[in-house]
Amino acid sequence: MVRLSFLGGTREVGRNAILVESAGARLLLDYGVMLDEEPGFPAHVRATDIDGIVVTHAHLDHSGAVPIFYLTERKPVFITPITAELVRVLIKDFIKLSGYYLPFEYLELETMMRCCRDIHYGMRIRVKDMVFTPINAGHIPGSFMVDIEAGGKRILYTADINTIDTRLVRGARVPRRRYDVVIIESTYATQEHPDRRDLEEEFIKEVRSVIDEGGRVLIPAFAVGRSQEMLSILHAYGFRRNVYIDGMAREVNEIFLSYPDYLKAPRAFMKALSTVRVVRGWRDRREALKRPSIIVAPSGMLQGGTAIYYMENLALDERSGVFLVSFQIPGTGGAKLLETGRFTIGDREEEVKARVRRFDFSSHAGMTQLHDFLRGLRGEPKIYVIHGEEENCKALVDWTVEELGLEAQAPQQGDEFEV
Ligand SMILES: [Zn+2]
Ligand SMILES: [Zn+2]
Repeated sequence: MVRLSFLGGTREVGRNAILVESAGARLLLDYGVMLDEEPGFPAHVRATDIDGIVVTHAHLDHSGAVPIFYLTERKPVFITPITAELVRVLIKDFIKLSGYYLPFEYLELETMMRCCRDIHYGMRIRVKDMVFTPINAGHIPGSFMVDIEAGGKRILYTADINTIDTRLVRGARVPRRRYDVVIIESTYATQEHPDRRDLEEEFIKEVRSVIDEGGRVLIPAFAVGRSQEMLSILHAYGFRRNVYIDGMAREVNEIFLSYPDYLKAPRAFMKALSTVRVVRGWRDRREALKRPSIIVAPSGMLQGGTAIYYMENLALDERSGVFLVSFQIPGTGGAKLLETGRFTIGDREEEVKARVRRFDFSSHAGMTQLHDFLRGLRGEPKIYVIHGEEENCKALVDWTVEELGLEAQAPQQGDEFEV
């Protein structure tokens, strides 16, 4: 018998955390934060009550709250080496920028880093009477799904998955095992993504047209994953020399380069980076804006970060463009810009003259891909749907019940199940 406790990331995107307990072992799968105005944490577990934490990938909604366990304890963190380095950068930045009280500090982060155990795709890792195996999730470099054998049951936790190839990573495949339980994400359970190639071409066409008119393109992008994907696309379509990268993505690029095994096309990525101009300070920033250029800068939702500076400088220039390439959470600067065409510059709300477009370069499976993934599963697993807005979790549950005849539900925070 195995007990599953859903501690967070239920009917919401953020603070993912699941506790898996067998007779002899207790393993925590992710322990993320909700990045709202005030950071939100998963339900509490005592550090002494777990045998280890599996971190599926670097994004803070999966990793951000892990340092909580290192105030007193030294439990192992099972993590791919690339994710470990990315996590250090992201959590450090999270601590630095958080205006709110956090239950941990740099010291706990460093203690946590010392407890990291390197794991790799396909490796079987034993934790007391449990065995688990990380499997490529196709989401960002180093990301994995978790296959767990415990208490005579087999469980699959997809974490964040993408089943199509992107420039950076190969898509996830449906594991061939028979599972008793599958815990699946549902970020885009009700939304289709456009065909990737068409999307790339449309995006490039728009970028070209802005550059040809002498304008500047701002691409607000999250530092881990999306920024590198955009640089790779720009390079693949022949953009050289006038591409700038700003913010934490610079550090992240170096980490990606140190772990080429996690990239689909490491040589192409290396080439892409070799022609990118790295922005090192305010002088470079002003320089980047002086000529037709393409600037990739955080934050992806125009909430803080250096993208704001660029925005202030090109929003009123009708030759320029602002191309959003990430999901825009309602209420963020990016979401408001898309809705109203307006942006706050200084203390004034201005009508943006630059071209504003959104391109859906997602690193999550879309509706059809999620359906295909579930359809591809063998046996008759019980399905738990998490990591999506409430209506998305419910929609995927309904689809699974109606189309596949499987038992499915969308747990609430704190729900426990025995399987
Ligand atoms: Zn993610
Ligand atoms: Zn996530």
